[in-house]
Amino acid sequence: MPANRDGKYSHTAELKRQDAAHHLHPFTDFQDYAAHPGRIISRAEGVYIEDSDGNRILDGMSGLWCCNLGYSQPGIVEAVRKQLSELPFYNNFFQCANEPSVRLAARLASLTPDNFNHVFFTNSGSEANDTNLRLVRRYWDLLDKPNKRIILSRTNAYHGSTIAAASLGGFDFVHRQFETLPYVHHIAQPYWFKDGGELSPEEFGVRVAKDLERAIDELGEDNIAAFIAEPIQGAGGVIVPPESYWPEMRRILAERDILFISDEVICGFGRTGQLFGCQSYGTSPDLITFAKAVTNGFQPLGGVLLGDRVANVLTSGGGEFGHGFTYSGHPAACAAALATLDILEREQLVERVADDIGPYLQRRWQELADHPIVGETRGKGMVAALELVRNKHTRERLEDGGKAGAVCRQFCIESGLVMRAVGDAMIIAPPLVCSHEEIDLLIERATRALDLTASHYH
Ligand code: PLP
Repeated sequence: MPANRDGKYSHTAELKRQDAAHHLHPFTDFQDYAAHPGRIISRAEGVYIEDSDGNRILDGMSGLWCCNLGYSQPGIVEAVRKQLSELPFYNNFFQCANEPSVRLAARLASLTPDNFNHVFFTNSGSEANDTNLRLVRRYWDLLDKPNKRIILSRTNAYHGSTIAAASLGGFDFVHRQFETLPYVHHIAQPYWFKDGGELSPEEFGVRVAKDLERAIDELGEDNIAAFIAEPIQGAGGVIVPPESYWPEMRRILAERDILFISDEVICGFGRTGQLFGCQSYGTSPDLITFAKAVTNGFQPLGGVLLGDRVANVLTSGGGEFGHGFTYSGHPAACAAALATLDILEREQLVERVADDIGPYLQRRWQELADHPIVGETRGKGMVAALELVRNKHTRERLEDGGKAGAVCRQFCIESGLVMRAVGDAMIIAPPLVCSHEEIDLLIERATRALDLTASHYH
C-alpha cells in the first residue's frame, strides 16, 4: 500500500493489519473479519464520524445508541477532565462514597418517576441486568417467597452479553453458544410485520400480549419472580409494538404479583420523547435498567433504578447484599453523566424529541414506505426501522436468510450514512440533537442506499 505525503495510507493499512491480526471484535465472525478488516474510525464531530481514509459519514445510530447529544460536547469532556484531576478514582465499598456518585444518585431520583428513589451503579447495561436478577432474587427471599425464581423475557430480546444478560436475551444463535440460565423463560415478541399475518396490528398486539398471561398461568404465578422487557425492542430490529400491546400488558401485570423490569438502555434519556420509554407507554415498572446515553457514551456507566416497592424491602431487610463492581459509581463516569443531564435539561432535548425533531423524523421516515423495496416503516421519537422486501403485499423478502440488510447497509456507508441492519430490518437511532437539515440528509442518503439495493436485486 503506497503512502501518501503525510503517510496516512500506510498508517491506516498498518492499523488494519494489526486489527485483523490481534483484535477480536464483539458480535463478529472472526474468520470473516480477518479476511475483510473493518474501517478505522478516527474522529467524530457533531453528528458525523470520520474514518481514517477521510470519509465523513452521518451517524444514524448515535454510535451504538449512546451518543444522543452527538460527538461535540465540550461540557462533558471538561467535567470528566476536572474530575480526573481532582479524584480520578475511589470506590463506593466499605462505608465510602464519592461526590459525583452521590450527586448523580440524587439527581436521578429527582428526574425519574416519583416512586424511584434509589439507584445501584454498574459499568454497563449487561451488568445492570445481572444486578436486576440479584435484586429481584433478594427481594423475594426477604419476603419469604423463595419459590419465585422464574424470569420471563421475550424472544428476540437483547439485554446484554454477560451469561445472565444473554440468557435474558432471546437470540437463538447466541443461546446455542453457551449454557443459558435454566430459570429464564421466553414469551412472544410484538413483531407485527413478521408474525402478524392477516391480523390487524391492534388485534395482533392484544393477542401477543396474552402470551404473558398464558405463561404466568402455565408456570404458576407463585414461581415467577419478574418479567423484563424493553418498551421498544431495539437491537432486535426496533420492534415498535402495536398501540394495543402495552395497555394489555399493563392490565396483566397489574393483576399479577410479579415484578416488572423496564430495560431502558436504549429507550432511556429521551429517545422516545419522554425521559423513559415506560413513560411513553404508561407502564409502571418496579425496576429500570439504564446505561449508554446516561453519559452520552463518553464514559462507561449503567445501573438499575429501584422503585420504592423493591427498595423499601431491600433497605429494611438487613444483611449484606453480596454484589457490586470495582467501578460501581466511578467518579469520572458519574461526572460525565451529571454533565450529560445538564445538557439534556438545559437544551430541553426530551421536549424537542416529543414536539419537534421526533415528529419531523417520523414524518420524513414514513415517506420511505413508498419505496418499491420497503414493506413497512415504523418508529417513535428518534428511533425508526423499515423492512426490506421484494413484494410489499406478500412480504416476500429480497433474498433468503435476511441477507439483503447487509447489502443495504454497505450501500448506506457508501452513501455516507450509518444505518444498522438487523436481518432485513434497517434501523436508525440518530442523535437527538440532529437539525432538520441533517434529518433531510439522512433521508436523502437512505433513499439512495435503497435505490442501490433495489438495482442490486433487479
Ligand atoms: N439492554 C439493552 C436493551 C441493550 O440494547 C443493551 C446493549 O445494546 C444492553 C442491555 C447491554 O448494554 P451493554 O452493552 O452496555 O452491556
